[in-house]
Amino acid sequence: MNVHQNIKLIDGKATSARVLAEVREQVLALREAGIQPGLAVVLVGSDAASQVYVRNKVLRAEEVGIRSLEHRLGADTDEQTLLALVQRLNADPSVNGILVQLPLPPHIDEHRVLQAVSPLKDVDGFHSANVGGLAQGRDVLTPCTPSGCMRLLRDACGDLRGKHAVVVGRSNIVGKPMAALLLQADCTVTVVHSRSRDLPALCRQADILVAAAGKPRLIGADWLKPGAVVIDVGINRIEEDGRSRLVGDVDFAAALPLAAAITPVPGGVGPMTIAYLMKNTLLALDLQQQAALARPSQEHAPCLSLC
Ligand code: NDP
Repeated sequence: MNVHQNIKLIDGKATSARVLAEVREQVLALREAGIQPGLAVVLVGSDAASQVYVRNKVLRAEEVGIRSLEHRLGADTDEQTLLALVQRLNADPSVNGILVQLPLPPHIDEHRVLQAVSPLKDVDGFHSANVGGLAQGRDVLTPCTPSGCMRLLRDACGDLRGKHAVVVGRSNIVGKPMAALLLQADCTVTVVHSRSRDLPALCRQADILVAAAGKPRLIGADWLKPGAVVIDVGINRIEEDGRSRLVGDVDFAAALPLAAAITPVPGGVGPMTIAYLMKNTLLALDLQQQAALARPSQEHAPCLSLC
């Protein structure tokens, strides 16, 4: 956190650089043992934003020494072809993480594809085995954005136990896993959404406010308890004063004087997402190694499928 000149910015760029440095160090140690982690990124179609995300993920992987394998498929790729590719990647021991860039074209069943990814290679944490594992508080692969938010919160607040966290948004990729991670960290958690009544009053109870609604500057000063820690996940492009700019779900200028600490947009949560994708790739490798050790050899498990 940057407290210089009373600026209470939670610097996602600096924290993500630290996370990536940790990953790089682990990759170097693995290399000494003759192992290079691999991340496969699958992109279907030519959505402009997705192309940028995929390029950034591949670049970041290369920077930290993770082998990246890019699979670009045409927009008219059928579901069976995509599922067959996912199965090949599941079976490939040099691939430790598989990321299918969303959204997929409308003729492909997104859920079916995400369910086809091996839960041990599911670096996005979207497979229902991992979603369920997170709900049960088990050590599983968890979605990158909320995991990155947790790192920012731990760095900013230290002990999170007993704090009241309010999460604005209940999507499967941000709001719900964020709430589960905060609960796991012993916070008292309230999740609010578009049908919640009196949002400002609910948000004013928050020691920690996580905004993930996708609505530019939804959260103003009157939604905040003085001294709250604010994590703004929102990324919204708006036109203002004849310029295109990115803003969060929080009115940053209004919140800054009130908050104990706050993430800017851009430069807050955004860089943490890719950093946690890299971290998850190493975690996936570790989980695969543990699974291989735990797996009984064939001759010792003749009736496993019958038991
Ligand atoms: P979704 O659109 O999937 O979900 C938005 C959630 O916010 C929904 O649960 C919705 O409620 C709720 N919501 C919408 N409007 C309001 C409102 N006025 N008051 C209260 N709740 C509201 O979005 P995502 O979760 O995918 O993303 C949220 C934001 O985070 C977006 O701006 C996205 O760009 C950004 N994002 C940033 C990432 C990063 O790396 N920094 C990564 C992923 C997302 P309901 O369920 O009732 O419809």
